[in-house]
Amino acid sequence: MSKIKIAELFYSIQGEGRYMGVPSVFLRTFGCNFKCQGFGMPRGEMSQEVESIAARITEFKDYNELPLVSTGCDSYASWDPRFKDLSPMLTTDAIAERICEIIPHGEWRDEHLVITGGEPLLGWQRAYPDLLDHPKMAGLTEITFETNGTQQLTPEFKEYLKKWQLRTWHTGGPVREITFSVSAKLPCSGEKWEDAICPEIVREYEQVGTAYLKFVISTEQDFADAECAIGAFRAAGFRGHVYLMPVGGVETVYTLNNRRVADLAMKNGLRYSDRLQVPLFKNEWGT
Ligand code: SF4
Repeated sequence: MSKIKIAELFYSIQGEGRYMGVPSVFLRTFGCNFKCQGFGMPRGEMSQEVESIAARITEFKDYNELPLVSTGCDSYASWDPRFKDLSPMLTTDAIAERICEIIPHGEWRDEHLVITGGEPLLGWQRAYPDLLDHPKMAGLTEITFETNGTQQLTPEFKEYLKKWQLRTWHTGGPVREITFSVSAKLPCSGEKWEDAICPEIVREYEQVGTAYLKFVISTEQDFADAECAIGAFRAAGFRGHVYLMPVGGVETVYTLNNRRVADLAMKNGLRYSDRLQVPLFKNEWGT
């Protein structure tokens, strides 16, 4: 039986992107290929906020006790090795059981599954089929992978996902849908363009499901970078929608940006994604 290292598993409302407002189970896997220490920092500078938290690591017994950060990656504990002991390795059986305990009716109805991270397509692709084939997951019809768009699907997982979608269709059951919410990292993240903007990989996601791009925006320069990236994705044949989303893992930063980013999206005929988890739940862990 497969195991997955889980940073968080919780039930909430999807706050971002295509499924904004939809009741969702969030499965946050451990591990990421990026650090994104540039978010919320002057360009070229890297956030050191997590350093002081890591220095006090013994004070935190549970993931939910960790402080929120206003700069850098807001889910730092889902990949930083210093916090790895707060993320248990669970069997796919245990995950499926736990999911049925946290959804309102004890079985999948209108909820959607968000597999997020960290970077969820990094190493766990081999384990997802075991989870999705579990009898308790049979009623699930919609999955979103929240990815940074840098990880290729393995041929095996690609074929599995194609079949997963067709399974109920053939028997007259509900239509199943897979979405890739691709948060491609712009230079404001602190990551290098050549590592972060991978149009060919995202094009491949479109062969399996619906893929859209979601750019985190703070400044005019970020938007100029997003336009450049959109050009590169379109040139590679990417057909999906594009969302602009305000930077802001904490409310003070989010409220400085959200209206301006919404205006920018409207002006340029792009979609706007909110971060409903910030005004609704203050972006606390487990929301
Ligand atoms: S890709 Fe996402 S999870 Fe990974 S470091 Fe960047 S913001 Fe954090």
